[in-house]
Amino acid sequence: MLKTRPKDTPYWWEAAQPFRYSSDEIDSNFDVAIVGAGYAGLCAALYLARAGRKVQLFEREKLGFGASSRNGGFTSGNIRPDNKSLIRKFGIERAKKIAAEGHQARRYLIDFIAQEKINADFQLVGRFCGAMTRAEYDELARSAELLEREEGIESYGVPSNEVHRHIATDIYAGGSVRMDIGGLHPAKFHAELIRLVLAEGVKIHGECRVERVVQGSDKHTIITEKGSVFARDVLVCTNGYTDHSDRWLRQRLVPLRSRIIATEELGEERVKSLVPGLKMLTDTRAMSYYFRPSPDGKRILFGGRDVTSKGDPAYATERNFTELCHVFPELQGVNISHSWFGYVAMNRDMVPRIFKRGAIHYATGFCGSGVVWAPWIGMKVAQKITGMPESESCFDFRPPRLVPTWRGKAWFMPVVFANLARKDRKVEAAAAKERLLEKSANFQNVEK
Ligand SMILES: Cc1cc2nc3c(=O)[nH]c(=O)nc-3n(C[C@H](O)[C@H](O)[C@H](O)COP(=O)(O)OP(=O)(O)OC[C@H]3O[C@@H](n4cnc5c(N)ncnc54)[C@H](O)[C@@H]3O)c2cc1C
Repeated sequence: MLKTRPKDTPYWWEAAQPFRYSSDEIDSNFDVAIVGAGYAGLCAALYLARAGRKVQLFEREKLGFGASSRNGGFTSGNIRPDNKSLIRKFGIERAKKIAAEGHQARRYLIDFIAQEKINADFQLVGRFCGAMTRAEYDELARSAELLEREEGIESYGVPSNEVHRHIATDIYAGGSVRMDIGGLHPAKFHAELIRLVLAEGVKIHGECRVERVVQGSDKHTIITEKGSVFARDVLVCTNGYTDHSDRWLRQRLVPLRSRIIATEELGEERVKSLVPGLKMLTDTRAMSYYFRPSPDGKRILFGGRDVTSKGDPAYATERNFTELCHVFPELQGVNISHSWFGYVAMNRDMVPRIFKRGAIHYATGFCGSGVVWAPWIGMKVAQKITGMPESESCFDFRPPRLVPTWRGKAWFMPVVFANLARKDRKVEAAAAKERLLEKSANFQNVEK
C-alpha cells in the first residue's frame, strides 16, 4: 500500500522538463516538413539539415512532451517477435538481416552519443534478464552463448547461485547478461537532440499541431493550426502520439500505455545492495516488466503495462509497486516519488518501420524500443529522402496492416493482455513449485 501520493509527471522531468519553444516565424517554402519532435523527428532533422536541406519541425505540444522524454532509457533495441516468429513471417534471410541491423543500430547510438558529445548520463552497464523457471534459464543461457559465439557480443548465462551478483532477489531461477545494452537519461537525451538540431538551423515550431497534409505533384501543403506552408518532402514521426490528423496512420497503430514508478531516494549503498552492477533489468514474464537504477544510482525505477481500473491511476501505480516489491520484498514501505505513463506504438507485426504512402514518408512503430530504433530509423529515412545509397534498410518496407477496431479502439487488446497474464500466472506457479522442491531438497541434504 502506498503511503503518499506520487507526482504524476516523469521523474526525468526534474532534470529536463518540456518547454515552450517556437522559432520566429514559419517559412512558407522549404524542403522538408517533419511532424513530431521526438527522437525520430529530431534525428531525421539533424541528418537532413547536415545534408543541406531546409527543414522545419512541427510539434503539437511543448518540446519534450511525447514518449521520448518519458521512457525507461534502456538502449535495448529489442525486436518484439522472437527469432522463430521472425523466420516464420519473413523467412530466414530477412530475419538474419533484422537481427544484424539491430546490432548496427545499437552500435550507432553508442557512437552517436560519443561523437556528438551528448550529455545524457549514458552508461553501457549491460542488461540482466531474469528467468522465472529452469527451462527458461536453459533457453536464455543457450541464446547468450549463441550471441557471443556468432555476433561477438559479450553475453553469458547466469546460473541461479550467481543471480545475487546482479540482483538481490530470490524469484529468478537464473538469468542472462548481455553487455551491448545500457541506459541513458531519456529527457536529457531529448534536450540534447534539440540543441544539436537548432545548431544546424532547423526551425522548430512547438505547440503547432499539423492538422492535415495535402499531397501535390511536386510540393505538398502542410496545414498547421498556425497557417499553411509548402514543402517538397513530408515526414511523419508521431508514433504512439499519432492523432486523428492522420487517420490512415492512426488505424495502423495501437497506442499502449506503459507506466513507470520511481522510488524516493534510497541512497547509493542501498541501491547497490539491490543491483550490485547497476545493470538494466528485465525478466522473461510475458507482461514485460523493465526496471533499473536511476542514472545517479539513488533510486529504482520500475516499469510495466499501465493497467488502469476504471481510469484510476492509483490502481496502476499500486500494481507496479506490488510487482516491484515482488522482486525486492525489502522495498515494502518505501515511498514512491513519481508515477507516470506514456504511449508506445505497436503495429500488427511488431516490427519498426520506414515506409511511404503516396509522397509522404513515415518512421514509426517502435513497439516500446525506440531509444535505439527511433534515432536509427530517423537517420535511415533521412538518407532515403536525400537519395543516399546507404539508406537501404530491412525496416523499409510495406506499411503496417490495418488494425481491427471497434469504435476506434483495438477491441482485441484486453484479450491479448488476459492471455499474457494467464501465461505469467502459469509460469509463476511452475516457478514457485520449483523453488519449493529445491528448498525441500536442501532441507533433506542438511538433515542427512
Ligand atoms: C513509459 C515508456 C517507457 C518506455 N521505455 C523505453 C525504453 O526503456 N527503451 C526504449 O527503447 N524505448 C522505450 N519506450 C519507447 C520510446 O520512448 C519510443 O519508442 C520513442 O520515444 C518514440 O520516439 P518518436 O520520436 O517516434 O515519438 P515521440 O517521442 O512519442 O514523439 C512523437 C511526437 O509527435 C507529436 N505529434 C503527434 N501528433 C502531432 C501532430 N498532428 N502535429 C504535430 N505533432 C504531433 C507528439 O506530440 C509527440 O511529441 C518507452 C515508452 C514509454 C511511453
